[in-house]
Amino acid sequence: MPVLISKTLHDAGKAYGAFFFLRADMKNRVQGFSRDGIQVRWGLVGAQRYLKASWPVRYGLFHEIRTPSYLFQFSAEGVIRFVQGRPGTWHEHTDWFKRTAGGDWVYYSSGGYNGAFSAIGEHYIPIFPYHSNPVIGEKAYPAETLRAVLQALETLTAWAEKVAEELPPEGAAFLSCVARKNQKDTLASQADRFHELTHGPLTVLPPDCRHVDYDILPLRLARGCLYHCRFCEVKSSQTFAVEAPDHVTEQVASFSDHFKADLIHMGGVFLGEHDALAAGEGPVVAAAEACETLFSGDGRMADRPSLFLFGSPHALLNVSEAGWEALDHLPFNVAINTGVESLDPPTLDYLGRPTPVALVKEAVKRADEVMRRCRNVSVSLNMVTGDALPPSHHESLSCFVASRDTRDAPLYLSPLKDHAHRRTTMAEFTALKRISRAPLFLYLLQRL
Ligand code: SF4
Repeated sequence: MPVLISKTLHDAGKAYGAFFFLRADMKNRVQGFSRDGIQVRWGLVGAQRYLKASWPVRYGLFHEIRTPSYLFQFSAEGVIRFVQGRPGTWHEHTDWFKRTAGGDWVYYSSGGYNGAFSAIGEHYIPIFPYHSNPVIGEKAYPAETLRAVLQALETLTAWAEKVAEELPPEGAAFLSCVARKNQKDTLASQADRFHELTHGPLTVLPPDCRHVDYDILPLRLARGCLYHCRFCEVKSSQTFAVEAPDHVTEQVASFSDHFKADLIHMGGVFLGEHDALAAGEGPVVAAAEACETLFSGDGRMADRPSLFLFGSPHALLNVSEAGWEALDHLPFNVAINTGVESLDPPTLDYLGRPTPVALVKEAVKRADEVMRRCRNVSVSLNMVTGDALPPSHHESLSCFVASRDTRDAPLYLSPLKDHAHRRTTMAEFTALKRISRAPLFLYLLQRL
């Protein structure tokens, strides 16, 4: 017979360190048993606020199964989210895999990257199973390790199915759920369904999504973008158009149905696609209000979820005083990301970017004003970089960075594909970091 263990949350907290921010309604739920050298625990509660950490912090309600080789951690609904090798089984046992809602297994490398925080604002480097950020990180994606992990997960689901039959009801329910929801085909169809709902895979998300580890619900408010810049590889060919209001509410209902209890793991919403702010302040505020229900359940991860969106320079300048006020009063941390790309006219021409420098400067000024005036709205800026860009771009970038103040809008640098060699780009970035008083990071492109 398996040994049933019931722990208080206090005990569970000790096992995971002292970094829990607990909600009263989530106490005393941890139960578990061990059998065949495998330890099963469900109803664990992790951190309730996002932390900047170099170790694998777990958030919200989760469950876990420890085998001699792996630690498998599951969402509230019992879907696999994290896998870590046990000490002695992986070369880097402090690293971990995370499965995204879109079905990608991202490898989090937390060792050997002392400059990670300086480069991307996090204490780890995510390594993706697709070509994305050649400038950041050196490690290759550990495809062989993932193959072994997936094989171990298959073995675990078979074990769970068998053992569930011999357990008391609660343990049986948990293991049956693990067996049912984590088979290869089930996980694949779940990812496909997510992409159907989100018009994905989405190839680009605002860089500020890193603050909630990309645990976001992508909801499309508008299609296409205003500029159709020549250099851009992620643009949609569609003419800019705002979605009908019922499209937004339908997506909200679909997310509720798809994620169910796993909504508690979500840190926010991404209002897509490339320029949701250009839909206008009214539709943005209405979409945000429609999303409130997604974050109203018990035990949700985010007390104050985030609302991420891109906003072009034109869109940023079109928001009225009343619009900023309305955005600032939403129950979200609103994070707008504005691509200004360059302050150098020859470079804007080279990029095929139809935004005159005067407009770009106005947008930067507005972003800085918002950073000072709004309590719950932030604006970050993007600029391109790459040694193949005109020298005048690098000069204007350096002058711009040197002029920034600590309270100004953060700047993300986006190395241009086929234009940026790793060594020169990192050398320029390091030099810019030295002269910048405002936050400056590299833009990490992550898909979902
Ligand atoms: S950079 Fe932005 S505005 Fe320009 S084409 Fe790409 S998505 Fe559109």
